[in-house]
Amino acid sequence: MSTKFRDGLREAPNELFNTAVDEFRSSVIGAFRVAIENGAQRSCINCANFDEPTEQCRKYKQRPPARVIALGCPEYEDEDVIPF
Ligand code: SF4
Repeated sequence: MSTKFRDGLREAPNELFNTAVDEFRSSVIGAFRVAIENGAQRSCINCANFDEPTEQCRKYKQRPPARVIALGCPEYEDEDVIPF
């Protein structure tokens, strides 16, 4: 058995594992994207105060930090809720 063939056999499980991890990661990212787009996950992206073209929060008049963009803040306002 050649060394190259033996090394290939040894690496195959790692490649399968890495492929599975990549597919799982893509699935999680896809699920997170769907949750944001459907309002199940609160974030600046689906907040009524977020101005998408400028990526500015209208309430605080500045661009939120990445963590807040991803997770929202206590001042989050649902785009579909009329407060009166
Ligand atoms: S979630 Fe908070 S920081 Fe983000 S746009 Fe809405 S009010 Fe502004």
